[in-house]
Amino acid sequence: MLLPEQQFLSETETETSSSSSHNPSSSTSLPKSAITSAAAESKKSYILRKCIALLHSCASSVPKLRQVHAFSIRNGVPLSSPDMGKYLIFSLVSLSGPMHYARKVFDQIPHPNIFTWDTMIRGYAESEDPSPALHIYQRLRLSSVEPDTHTYPFLLKAIAKLMIVREGEKVHCSTLKDGFESLMFVQNALLHFYGACGRSESAHCLFEKMPYKDLVAWNSVINGYALNNMPNETLTLFRKMGSENVKPDGFTLVSLFTACAELGALSLGRRAHVYMTKTGLDKNLHAANALLVLYAKCGSIKEAKKVFDGLQIKSVVSWTSLIVGLAVNGFGEEALELFKEMEFRRMAPSEITFVGVLYACSHCGLVDEGFAYFEKMKKGYGIVPKIEHYGCMVDLMGRAGLVKKAYKYILEMPVKPNAVIWRTLLGACAITGDLSIGEIAREELRKLEPKHCGDYVLISNLYASERRWSDVHNVRKAMLDEGVRKVPGHSLVELGNITYEFVMGDKTHAQTEAIYSKLSEMTRLLRLEGYAPHTSNVLADIEEEEKETALSYHSEKIAIAFVLINTPPGTLIRIVKNLRVCGDCHLAIKLVSKIFRREIVVRDCSRFHHFKDGECSCKDYW
Ligand code: ZN
Ligand code: ZN
Repeated sequence: MLLPEQQFLSETETETSSSSSHNPSSSTSLPKSAITSAAAESKKSYILRKCIALLHSCASSVPKLRQVHAFSIRNGVPLSSPDMGKYLIFSLVSLSGPMHYARKVFDQIPHPNIFTWDTMIRGYAESEDPSPALHIYQRLRLSSVEPDTHTYPFLLKAIAKLMIVREGEKVHCSTLKDGFESLMFVQNALLHFYGACGRSESAHCLFEKMPYKDLVAWNSVINGYALNNMPNETLTLFRKMGSENVKPDGFTLVSLFTACAELGALSLGRRAHVYMTKTGLDKNLHAANALLVLYAKCGSIKEAKKVFDGLQIKSVVSWTSLIVGLAVNGFGEEALELFKEMEFRRMAPSEITFVGVLYACSHCGLVDEGFAYFEKMKKGYGIVPKIEHYGCMVDLMGRAGLVKKAYKYILEMPVKPNAVIWRTLLGACAITGDLSIGEIAREELRKLEPKHCGDYVLISNLYASERRWSDVHNVRKAMLDEGVRKVPGHSLVELGNITYEFVMGDKTHAQTEAIYSKLSEMTRLLRLEGYAPHTSNVLADIEEEEKETALSYHSEKIAIAFVLINTPPGTLIRIVKNLRVCGDCHLAIKLVSKIFRREIVVRDCSRFHHFKDGECSCKDYW
């Protein structure tokens, strides 16, 4: 195949020769200089037309585009000529080409028209670094060119990515001044911006005022609520959408499932699943994958598998979601089996698939296999390991008690260890009781993330395990002196279609009395099973949350009591906790699962705990 320039040259030659042969007399009656300048002019405009045609037709890659550009320069076509620069930038942006290249071209155009300004803003908005979109817009406002209907949606997209609320609000004002606010796609862009920046209420306000709302508008507001952890609002709007006869599409369901997954709102997810099947949207792979993730994140791996098995076409995302889902839920062997099947079917795993695989190895204590998979990922699949993968390896060794090896591994890693890596190591030290490495990890953490409450807890537990009470005391003092703020713990639990939130010592619920009498019954029965609350040494017990007392129980216990009194025997209990479950609660929940014969799934900030018959799937390592 000919490259554009070769193709172009061969065509020019044939055309010039043919035109001269067809029109031999035309040049005879004009003065020679005029002939040359006219001919040069016509050649120039011909080359220009040709270049633009080439940009349209054969610039299917950035290198080809560069060739056309180089050719135009050699033939004296200036970027200032109408259309040349404009089409060059447009082609570059359409190919998601490098924006610094587009910018170089742009800066040479003396008077870009609004199309070119918009294309530049769009290019940046769609790129990885959208911030220059704002500079381009500011330059546009200083020029004599007026923004048009396309300017704002692209600009707002960039601002939404950058999450700069103030800039977005200013732009909102400009749309009002310029009279573009009533345009549906400007409104939709504003809705998306407010939702993405955590201003879902503003998005909703704007939405309410819109005289006509299309599906995109509904989706933007629903997605805004979903992103901002407002599940009840998400649900209300989803219902309203139904009552106004607007049919949800795959995007709506993806937002809905994502929200449900974050909050563990399983029954709402299940209802949407029914709807999805009824309307045939279960054929939508994105929505089906989001549903699979929802079930996995709610700890209902059976349902996740069912969704997976029901998929007619399974993408890499589907395989990966189930592998990761199985691994984080503690079903390591099954995750690895599924990965083998994936390879057998010649599906190329992604880097996220390997996060699941390595996590599964870690969970099953398969250290050698973990290293083998890590090598396979690099050499077999050409995936460059990311910090997440190294994190998995540190976890793998830590969990197997190989703390020294893990520390050495961190020092030799080709990427700079981040706080998560050091925290993983510190966690392993806290469990194995390796104080010297634990202190090193803590020092690194103090440099990287100085005021992370959980780290103080880990190091304090480590000192406590060595009975170094004065060090425990010093950690607590440092916490106070350094003003480390504790994140208030809360637990979410779903009952019916409503998600309830409980905080420590919560007494705001209407059923408070019943909840607390259940809690004392729980404590009584637990003691009969040999449970002794972790109160032996107050100093030893710096938890992420305040020390628990009989009057102020940790939120997960309150949530469990609440579900126990409101559901029939045998119903599974699901809790989503924002902090790490403390040792005392972990022990108590294990016993509750046995005494009350309830399966209890707790998702805390780092992993899943499936409690059943007095055991936990994390095997007491978390
Ligand atoms: Zn607790
Ligand atoms: Zn556990």
